[in-house]
Amino acid sequence: MAKKGFLEQLINSPLAAKVGVPQGYPLRRYKAGEPLLHAPVVIGGQGRLVEALTSTLEGPYKLLKAEADTPRAGIVFDATEIARPEDLKQLYDFFNPQMRKIADNARIVVIGTTPELIEDTDARIAARALEGFSRSVAKELRKGATAQLVYVDPAIDSNNFTQVESTLRFLLSGKSAYVDGQVIRITDVSAAAPADWEQPLAGRLAVVTGAARGIGAVIAETLSRDGAKVICVDIPQAGEGLTQTANKVKGTALPLDVTDPAAADKLAAHADERYGRKIDILVHNAGVTRDKLLVNMDDSRWNMVQNINLVAPVRITEKLLEANALGDSPAVIGVSSIAGIAGNRGQTNYGTTKAGVIGFVDALHDRLADLGGNINAVAPGFIETDMTAAMPTGPREVGRRMNSLQQGGQTIDVAETVAYFAAAASKAVNGNIVRVCGQSMLGA
Ligand code: NAD
Repeated sequence: MAKKGFLEQLINSPLAAKVGVPQGYPLRRYKAGEPLLHAPVVIGGQGRLVEALTSTLEGPYKLLKAEADTPRAGIVFDATEIARPEDLKQLYDFFNPQMRKIADNARIVVIGTTPELIEDTDARIAARALEGFSRSVAKELRKGATAQLVYVDPAIDSNNFTQVESTLRFLLSGKSAYVDGQVIRITDVSAAAPADWEQPLAGRLAVVTGAARGIGAVIAETLSRDGAKVICVDIPQAGEGLTQTANKVKGTALPLDVTDPAAADKLAAHADERYGRKIDILVHNAGVTRDKLLVNMDDSRWNMVQNINLVAPVRITEKLLEANALGDSPAVIGVSSIAGIAGNRGQTNYGTTKAGVIGFVDALHDRLADLGGNINAVAPGFIETDMTAAMPTGPREVGRRMNSLQQGGQTIDVAETVAYFAAAASKAVNGNIVRVCGQSMLGA
């Protein structure tokens, strides 16, 4: 990480805080062995899922009555009963008194039914309205607290609730510290809980591309922490960094350029020769930027970014699918960017690829569902890496703060979201793009 210059130190000092420069509240992140939340959880609403919610959450969390005055670190509201626009007042009635009793770093989760799957007109409108509510609540919260919306398939009820648990555990913990104002859709696919929630990836084999440094190295570490064996891939020139990651995660290093036409064959062969199995988790993290205004961009900058960020993930995945080289419940994970959602000046090449990653998820989610697997993407915002440390001070300090949490995210925040997608317990989470951006104003 680059050394902090004088201006950066000043902007991030208590003096700057005094004159109103936002500093961002310290975020509580997940630590193995610590409670998922540091204060109890309140469950509200009267929808069809409330009983299942209570029985699912009463094990890992302490539950608290809504009327109590004690601070709460989690509020889960089952809004599936709200079936008419007139009834949205239930949100106000429940949340208005809650807003004064929220602990720092609290998690609010609103649960609704997936609007596109609702036939009744009134119910569909009311379900869609939840998005504006939860995103606005997220913008009002302070001190590291976040709010999200989870849409569940109308076929999910108290009898088949296990597919929702991995999402609740992710959102109601420090694993989602930098995820804010997001909407996650859960499909009606049965997904069993892992034998041990601290090792949700036990027995799975993962591939992480671009694993020599930055976000990719931390993804490899996090998947390994959660029990996966990891094949670490990076370009041959990455040498030392790649070996270091592989050693750290007790995995294997595979020097490979993802644009190599034989990349998929080499990955499948490595998995078979070194582990005697198929690939269960495929994380397409390798990515590059070659910024230039379109008017000044030569075609080598265009081609390089397309080939690494988009063409390689698409072709590798297709080939592995055709060769039947993915294991049971395969999880494919793309790394998009808020630049692919909002667009970014000087990044026509990059923005195209990162929006293409979203298209990749949309286009393949049915195929992965047929295999009992899933495909999702994470879209990071401002993440503290060598890349963002090297930005000029002004844009960096503004970029860091342009989100509801008023700070940059850490590489671990992206990695935790990838690990959540990667678990077999999350296979009902399919076709989602989750932004890890602290509810960035860009592309919101
Ligand atoms: P980074 O440059 O630190 O790491 C990228 C890694 O990918 C490097 O180790 C590099 O050698 C490897 N790589 C590049 N080309 C490759 C190829 N052809 N084959 C194999 N490996 C290759 O970048 P990062 O900041 O860690 O970003 C990781 C991913 O996250 C990228 O897809 C990036 O676009 C995305 N992202 C990053 C941010 C951020 O704030 N850092 C924000 C949004 C999205």
